[in-house]
Order: sequence, then structure tokens, then C-alpha cells
Amino acid sequence: MSHQRHAKQPASIAKRTSALRDALNEKGLLPEGQLDTVLDATLAQFEETMNWRNGAKVVARAWTDPEYRARLLADGTAACAELGFEGPQGEYIVALEDEPELHHVIVCTQCSCTAWPVLGLPPDWYKSPEYRARVAREPRKVLHQMGLDVPETIEIRVWDTTAESRFIVLPLRPPATEGWSEEQLASIVTREAMIGVAMVTLEASAEK
Ligand code: FE
Repeated sequence: MSHQRHAKQPASIAKRTSALRDALNEKGLLPEGQLDTVLDATLAQFEETMNWRNGAKVVARAWTDPEYRARLLADGTAACAELGFEGPQGEYIVALEDEPELHHVIVCTQCSCTAWPVLGLPPDWYKSPEYRARVAREPRKVLHQMGLDVPETIEIRVWDTTAESRFIVLPLRPPATEGWSEEQLASIVTREAMIGVAMVTLEASAEK
């Protein structure tokens, strides 16, 4: 799978950032703690915009509006942008629709890409070498270890992120949610469900 886009990147941003910080510190150009304050504020701001709760809203809309669902499956980037969710790492959003006998799981085996506008920054376990190495090879086992048992009768399809794709799983809507509002539905959709390592259940995930 092609990954040229990041293969060409030099040292990681973290590495370059700390090198720059050290250089500024050596020259006494950085008042103690100032940079951390700025970086923390920037990250908080970033995470407010680039957040998996946006993805939950996309899923809830797709569950309640068949036409939106069709648009989402046809062009994920455009459909997410319709709800205002766009930006870096959101240029190639591909929505994968779960079916009763087909379950999608996403991974980035090369690094840890996610569709930032709808999934936010990746969680630690998604970045772990273990998840990245094993989920494509033995998805059923990995999912089981993460607490999700997928019956043998259901096919599991693993999607590896590429330079031209940032996936989001459109999970199955729990049957007992008939008549729920979009907002109620969005409240039970988790980041894990949109990655494919969990199902959406009726227990709302207050903090995840
Ligand atoms: Fe990646």
C-alpha cells in the first residue's frame, strides 16, 4: 500500500520541536514555561475542532437521514464537510458501512493516521506497534482481546490507511434506538466504534 506522503517526511514533528526548543533555551530566548503554555493551549484548541465527537454526529446523521448516508458513502470528505468537519487529514475520508454480516476495522500499519476532523488524534492503543502489527493478521483475536467478540459468521474486513484514504466506520445502529433523536444517537457513538474495535451499545460513553 502506498504511503509516500509520510514516507518522505523528515524527522518527526516532536523531534524537530524539541530540537528547536533546546536551541531557543540555550540562547535564553524562551522564558521558563512559556512555550508549554502556548503549546498546551494550541493542542486544546486543536482537539476541540478535531474531535471524534464530530464523527459521532456524522454517524447519527447517517443513521437518521438515508440521503445523507448515501452521500457519506459516495464521498466521505464532502459529506463530513457538509456538517462543518473538514481540515488536515480530512481530505480523503472514506466511510465504511458495517452490515449485519460484515464488520469493518481500521488501522494504519505504517504509522497512526486517522481522519482528524471526525476521529481526532489517534488514541494510544491505535498507535501501538502491537495493534498495528496484529490487527490485519488476526483481527478476530485482537478484537476479542479488546473486548469485542465477533461471531465467526460475520466477516471482518481490515482497512489499512493509505496516502489517499482516511477511514471512518459507520457502525450498525442498535435496534432499540427506534425514534431516538440525532443528538441522542450521537451520544452513544464512541471513537472505538468508528475505528471498528467496539460496537455501539445503549450505554452512553460519557468519557472516552
Ligand atoms: Fe499513518
